[in-house]
Amino acid sequence: MVEQHGNLYLENLVGRRELKDSLLRLVQTGNNVSLLLQGEEGLGKHTVARALAEILLCRQPCNSYACHKCASCNYFHAQSHPDYVELTLQAGQKQITMEQLRNFTDEQVNLQPLLGSRRVFLLELYAVSPQAQNLLLKTLESGAAGNFYILLANNLTQVLPTVQSRTQIFNLPHLSQEDLQQFTATLPADGRQDAAELKRLAEFSQGNPGFYLQLLHDEAFLRYYNDLQEIFLRALKCSPALLLSEILTELGAYKDKDKQPYLWRIWSFFLYKTSLRRPSCRPVFIAWQKCVARLQANGSFEIQMQAFLPELAKVL
Ligand SMILES: [Zn+2]
Repeated sequence: MVEQHGNLYLENLVGRRELKDSLLRLVQTGNNVSLLLQGEEGLGKHTVARALAEILLCRQPCNSYACHKCASCNYFHAQSHPDYVELTLQAGQKQITMEQLRNFTDEQVNLQPLLGSRRVFLLELYAVSPQAQNLLLKTLESGAAGNFYILLANNLTQVLPTVQSRTQIFNLPHLSQEDLQQFTATLPADGRQDAAELKRLAEFSQGNPGFYLQLLHDEAFLRYYNDLQEIFLRALKCSPALLLSEILTELGAYKDKDKQPYLWRIWSFFLYKTSLRRPSCRPVFIAWQKCVARLQANGSFEIQMQAFLPELAKVL
């Protein structure tokens, strides 16, 4: 699978300085390492893992980083490196099968590296069932010399404790707003949004660059955001009696199953931000989260909103 913005080198990765330093130290320690990179979707696990794999395989690293010029780096960029194996979900696939995993673990048993001194394996562990993860234990413990495993997970609840104990765990942090701005500055300008809107997207994505890109390419997002912000502010100022009828009518457009997630996310963001400023809003934020959970479980839109909207009067 090709990254959206071509190859990203570890030295160009925005922010995450501590993570970069720890990963580079790990590269120096040599072989037979199993690494677990955890971080929520959108933070760039694959990008970091592939950038690390390139360094691990490079024949003539330069200041700890890959040279991007040697035969190994060229094969890597061409996605045809013989010592690099990826096991990722295929299009439409929800879980990696036992058979795929068996092929993956068997792949390393007796093979020697062809180009250098290492083989690097990348696995989307979050797509592997706990039962199938058991297949990995032996591999992680007694892999052939020269093997380096990079496992990816969104969080540790997806990883068997026995797998965790056989790996070195690294957290992929969110970007600071400053680093996120630096990241957005590297993107090609498409001229559609103005600076204030881009700032709104950056704030809403809360340091998650993948989420930022998703919002940027979602043409409806800013329209819904502005609309839902107006309704939210009106709802705060309405008397409880007016609230139910008028606001419910205005929110009617978001009853649609495709649009509801915008309402969930955008109002969660507003309530979260408000609760940071006003601790008294915290119970309202929690009530909203419960309301969203019921809507996600197919609760009736009208009933859930009728139950929640009076809570908004408690914010001010
Ligand atoms: Zn190289």
